[in-house]
Amino acid sequence: MRTLRKLLIANRGEIALRIARTAARMGIGTVAVFSDADEDALFVRRADEAVRIGPASARDSYLRIDRILDAARRTGADAVHPGFGFLAENADFAEAVEAAGLLFIGPSAAAIRAMGLKREAKALALRVGVPVVPGFSDLASDLEGLDAQARTLGYPVLLKASAGGGGKGMRVVHRAAGLEEAVSSARREAEAAFGDGTLLLEKYIEGPRHVEIQVLGDTHGHLVHLFERECSIQRRHQKLIEESPSTALDDARRQAMGRDAITLCAAIGYTNAGTVEFVLDANGDHHFLEVNTRLQVEHPVTEGVFEGLDLVEEQIRIARGERLRFTQADLDARRSGAAVECRLCAEDPDSEFLPQSGRIIDFHLPEALLAQEWLRVESGVETGSDVPVHYDSMIAKLITRGPTRQDAIARMIRALSSLSVQGVLTNRAFLLRVLSHPDYQRGDIDTHFIETRMPPAVEPAEGDEILRRAAVAAALAGHATRAPHAAWLPSLAVSGYRNHRVADERMEFEVPDRGTVQVGYVDLGRGAFRVRVEGGAGTMTGTVRRVASDAGDLVLEWPDGHRVPTRVRSDGDAWYVHALGHSTRLRERPRFLDRDADSAADGCVAPMPGKILAVRVALGQTVAAGDTLMTIEAMKMEHAVKAPHAGVVSALPVRAGDQVAGGATLAVIDAT
Ligand code: ADP
Repeated sequence: MRTLRKLLIANRGEIALRIARTAARMGIGTVAVFSDADEDALFVRRADEAVRIGPASARDSYLRIDRILDAARRTGADAVHPGFGFLAENADFAEAVEAAGLLFIGPSAAAIRAMGLKREAKALALRVGVPVVPGFSDLASDLEGLDAQARTLGYPVLLKASAGGGGKGMRVVHRAAGLEEAVSSARREAEAAFGDGTLLLEKYIEGPRHVEIQVLGDTHGHLVHLFERECSIQRRHQKLIEESPSTALDDARRQAMGRDAITLCAAIGYTNAGTVEFVLDANGDHHFLEVNTRLQVEHPVTEGVFEGLDLVEEQIRIARGERLRFTQADLDARRSGAAVECRLCAEDPDSEFLPQSGRIIDFHLPEALLAQEWLRVESGVETGSDVPVHYDSMIAKLITRGPTRQDAIARMIRALSSLSVQGVLTNRAFLLRVLSHPDYQRGDIDTHFIETRMPPAVEPAEGDEILRRAAVAAALAGHATRAPHAAWLPSLAVSGYRNHRVADERMEFEVPDRGTVQVGYVDLGRGAFRVRVEGGAGTMTGTVRRVASDAGDLVLEWPDGHRVPTRVRSDGDAWYVHALGHSTRLRERPRFLDRDADSAADGCVAPMPGKILAVRVALGQTVAAGDTLMTIEAMKMEHAVKAPHAGVVSALPVRAGDQVAGGATLAVIDAT
């Protein structure tokens, strides 16, 4: 058995952190490698040691076998874990690692090679009797021949790159007319992406489901499968939400797929972790697609249905030469419950999922949620992290589990709703919309779910209310952090004590695609604010209470009495508000206090500290301009506070005998 003291992780972000955590738990030291773009990244700081391996471009850093091996040599690492992506399925890398005398945490280079090309893998599946999608692996060279092949399968057909991955080089062809062009463009794309233009022609399965089987094999000839993961929720051929078990499988199908996965892997003496991918057709029949010879992004879904299972630990144990610690029968008995994973990506779902980059201003889940055993957060970022443009857009994964699928989904909705991730656009709200979709909840999904069944984003009416509340939250959070009234108190003091007509304090925000929102508010004291908001398609007026306020973590009580925890963060003129599952981004326009502007709600304020002697009006009373509202003693003199204009007393936060601070609002008169 090989010893393993120090593990180099040839990857970045959340998976580097996830691998490092298991290594640390096993008592194994960790070495991170990082590019210039990641020098401040969380995964670099969390590793025991770290080595800079090159500039931002992956080609010059995370894909540089020589530099990674050099880092391993210099740090005395004795093993390398490739994670997923980058070099994870590069047989040359696996070979180079072994040649350098290090352990490669993954299958043999030969297994990676055998499964690396879809053409070869499919031929193998056919040989061992595993069902494949009907198709041709040798394409006819002329159009007539191609069309004949396509007709044999029946249009629509699918062209795919033998060396493919990530959906590159894939083309759906519906009729003979499109065939020639599709072949040449798919070939060009495959050549550019993989240096291999070999194409396969397959029957295109309409509305398929993607279901895959996790396998583990040790170096002593034992292979087991750990059942399925359903990965049909995809965008741009990339998985977004995964779960186990799949609602598409009955037990017979599940067993058959597991057996097929084992048969295929056994045929090449597969070791370590791997995933056998299948598509299910409309009849529910499964067809082999490909084998991923590595840990998958979605592996925590499997860990979620096997209490205590850690696939990275099993990978390490297998690489060290240990025997599998469970039999197929153990696994059959141990599987329980359901698990769901969501990939949180820095991308804009409204712009074709365009990747986003920038600084994460806030990444936060309430402690009470993080403490739940059913929630697992695998994040590559924290508040303050940068999301570089150079790599994959996935920044974190959330995994929930529960006794049933419904429980796991409900918990995921809870977790994603509570997650405040601000500063960079993400698919958080989009994921919530998928999870809440009745078809998704019923398990009625296929790989085209997102293109065909997702309705347009938030209803405008609901959105407007959220927007207005977000603007108020930003204004009141801003108010809490500024010295109260400092901006305007001096000028009032200069003018001496007199009856004031003080307009609301105002903040104005701009919201991309939604126009502006104006918030006017008057501080009534004791955390209450008379508020008027205009924006979206309407206005809101009323008294909002700031019940609690701690560095941007507010509890706001809205006019309807609903108390809502509200998280507000700001960065320059950008404001980010998270409340009740909704995240809103606002841009502040320069602040001003317009004393002369006509205002719907005018406050009378005390320009200096004093004591209320008597209050002469009542709430709701109609007053004329100049009516005495109250008397106040300040600087040892008695003053009358008069109505600045005719209107209704809409707020009266003081009583006779109250001591008031300078700047405190004494009354608000809504103009009639
Ligand atoms: P890649 O390696 O590029 O990811 P895959 O062969 O794994 O390519 O296929 C990616 C996705 O494309 C699958 O999840 C499935 O949704 C879809 N797909 C693949 N083959 C077919 C097919 N014959 N018919 C319909 N959809 C397919």
